[in-house]
Amino acid sequence: MHHPFIILTFAMAFAAAGSLPATAAAAQTTTQLPRTVRPLHYDVMIAPDAAALRFTGKVGITIEVVQPTSTITLNAVDIAFSSVNLATDQESWAASKTEINESTQTASFSFDRQLAKGRYRLTLDYSGKISTQAAGLFALDYPTADGKKRALYTQFESADARRMLPSWDEPAFKTTFALEIAVPSDLMAVSNMPVAERKPLPDGRSLVRFAPTPKMSTYLLFFGLGEFERATAEQDGVELGVVTKKGSSGQAGFVLESSKAVLKELNDYFGVKYPLPKLDNVAAPGGSQSFGAMENWGAIFSFEYAILLDPAISSQLDKQRAFGTATHEIAHQWFGNLVTMRWWDDLWLNEGFASWMTDRTTRKLRPEWNTALSVVSRREWALDQDALETTQPVVRHVETVEQMRPDAITYQKGAAVIGMLEDYVGRKAWADGVRLYMKKYAYGNAVSDDLWTQIEAAARKPVKAIAHDFTLQPGVPLIRVESALCSKGSTVLKLSQGEFSRDHPGKKPLRWRVPVIVQQLGTAPTYRTLVRNGAATMTLPGCGPAIVNAGQSGYYRTLYQAEHFSQLAANFTALNPIDQLGILADSWSLGMAGLQSPADFFDLAKNTPLAADPKVWGKIAGVFAALDRSYSTDPARQAIFRKFAISRLAPKLAQVGWIAQANEPDTFAILRNELIETLGSLGDPAVIGEARRRYAARAGDPSTLPGALRRPVLGIVAMHADAATWDQLHAAALAERTPLVKDQLFQMLAAAEDVDLARKALALALTAEPGETGGAMMIRRVAMQHPDLAFDFALDNLATVNTKVDKISRSRFIPSLARGSLDPAMIAKLNAYAEKHLLPAARRDVNAAVANITYWIKASRERLPLIDTWLARNSS
Ligand SMILES: [Zn+2]
Repeated sequence: MHHPFIILTFAMAFAAAGSLPATAAAAQTTTQLPRTVRPLHYDVMIAPDAAALRFTGKVGITIEVVQPTSTITLNAVDIAFSSVNLATDQESWAASKTEINESTQTASFSFDRQLAKGRYRLTLDYSGKISTQAAGLFALDYPTADGKKRALYTQFESADARRMLPSWDEPAFKTTFALEIAVPSDLMAVSNMPVAERKPLPDGRSLVRFAPTPKMSTYLLFFGLGEFERATAEQDGVELGVVTKKGSSGQAGFVLESSKAVLKELNDYFGVKYPLPKLDNVAAPGGSQSFGAMENWGAIFSFEYAILLDPAISSQLDKQRAFGTATHEIAHQWFGNLVTMRWWDDLWLNEGFASWMTDRTTRKLRPEWNTALSVVSRREWALDQDALETTQPVVRHVETVEQMRPDAITYQKGAAVIGMLEDYVGRKAWADGVRLYMKKYAYGNAVSDDLWTQIEAAARKPVKAIAHDFTLQPGVPLIRVESALCSKGSTVLKLSQGEFSRDHPGKKPLRWRVPVIVQQLGTAPTYRTLVRNGAATMTLPGCGPAIVNAGQSGYYRTLYQAEHFSQLAANFTALNPIDQLGILADSWSLGMAGLQSPADFFDLAKNTPLAADPKVWGKIAGVFAALDRSYSTDPARQAIFRKFAISRLAPKLAQVGWIAQANEPDTFAILRNELIETLGSLGDPAVIGEARRRYAARAGDPSTLPGALRRPVLGIVAMHADAATWDQLHAAALAERTPLVKDQLFQMLAAAEDVDLARKALALALTAEPGETGGAMMIRRVAMQHPDLAFDFALDNLATVNTKVDKISRSRFIPSLARGSLDPAMIAKLNAYAEKHLLPAARRDVNAAVANITYWIKASRERLPLIDTWLARNSS
């Protein structure tokens, strides 16, 4: 899956998880279902009644009884059975008893006899519900020029196949599926495999039969049904398609072309060709609080905002995200679909890999985007969360699927650790190991150690121990540069390893084996060492200041002695942009945590030249935006900070300009929007005035507001809106007939700084106006400006809010609203919410939000005064 981190504009917005011990070995045996019976094949027939939000189903499951038993237990939720029958070639029996267990999400069928080992056919007739949120079989409504339409889709990861299909709904039960759907004759149906036959039914509907799937896990099954159209292309003998609602396939050209290039690249990389005859990407209007896209085998599902490009509203960043989302899901066709984790403990094998593969493939196919630098900012999401007590390891044991909380550790730490290990063993050895692993476990299941074994075989180098250090234990190593002494023309560098903790600075550090790469400033060669048992010494030729974590492939923070840091700061412009980013990120994070002066970051920000890489400027803007929130409780001090921040960013915006220059690099286009958004949120009157001018002039002269500029300009207009402007935006949102644009306008209504307007937006979120999935997005957007207000509102209206959020996200949605709060009272409120509404196992997101809020209150109290001192000294 691809999580919707991208709809949040600040990195700290996503929740961390709790702290269960890592017991990777348990992954071998975990199951929620008895292993006495296993499925071999499913023949499924679904007849949806979209208008009534119900469906009927019939499934014939070929099963094998592995141990004699009189009971067959499988997964089912919200399913009513009308007939249960078991047969062999000779005999058949009805079930003597059907028992539904809501808490384990199972149905058990008992028979009046002991079933001997062997093959049987289990046939179930049943009915179930169509949801209005993305779980199981679900409906999405959207406006069109000729009225409201409804389309159906499925979303099964992690454990919602059981809402449509009574099944052994665990990733290790891989089988083949043959799916048939009874559909209204004018609609298109799409599933994992191509349509094998479409024939009329007596009642006027059509029966669509899809070709059987290869062996796969239940969570990858998919079907969609609606007034669709399909754009296609061909690559390596595979038919690529993008399925959209009618009239939207024109927005799919970029993702289709990109998918071609990516499929070719990944066919080459994995050494096993994509095995299905077709690969669709199905775009749907709306959204979900838990994901943006899903890798169903042969039929990727994506929300429109994640892959379609509408010239009226899309920016260069949207384009890069569309490429990234599509690449992530295509990478899953191997990592996840062909080879699947045995149990959810190893979810990171899917997600860390798909994320890393996306970075790798983007770098290779789109070098002009310079995404190598983006790897640093994505690593930051993980480092920040991983430095709180509430973090979890990458590999984390879960007893039940409900305990799963995929997060930035699963995705971004997973990806960063893979990048570090690839660098450690070498790219070729890494690719060889991945190929061995793919070949060996194709159509099967694997655990993390299966991968490490194949990598070691290919690399002929021990890597498992390092991999275990970084995936089985939580936390962030801190590499301290203890000394860098120059003698007789060479430098002796003494490194020690501690642990970077934001909220428990005194904790006893864990031990990691840390691959470290060092470079002397202004020279090309790099030097490597493995820090183990807490220390390492390196001798480097020459006497310049050394850069630790040169190239930024390491997953750790680096702390220099003050003098060493000053030397690097004085030569900041001579560093490679990626190391400028790494040092900015480390000094900001370590500065707020009290390990170095927060003034260090400001020295760097002050001396960064206009000519620095756009991503370096993007990082500075991002830190200023985060700091601005910390200052929000004290307007007088905030004004002084804002004056400095604006004085740094405004000249850069003046240089980049508001309108794209001919042939400008993509990185400029992205930075332009970041600068406009940040300056707008810092209250820069010039930028607010210009945004309002362009917004007002757009009707007479559309060139004042090109699509790429629309989001930042509307964002500023909406943020600083008065009641009349808000009403104007509201009217525009109501009149809009394009779902993507409509959703964006409702988001804007939720962006107001004005508290009364924010209240109006919250009330609006619970009405039918923004659609079934738009309301939660609005509440989340309000929380970015007004976390306490949004949190209180959501609790006051919890029952209604819950209907706007998919079930899997409910226990994390409420704490996610609170995360930006700086009010100490929020901690008690969060704990009270957890006491009242959550089982202990579901408390992790609350605990993480509490840890984050506690940290920022403390950091703001202790560290901002040091920044104030610096500002007093450095402001003109
Ligand atoms: Zn994914």
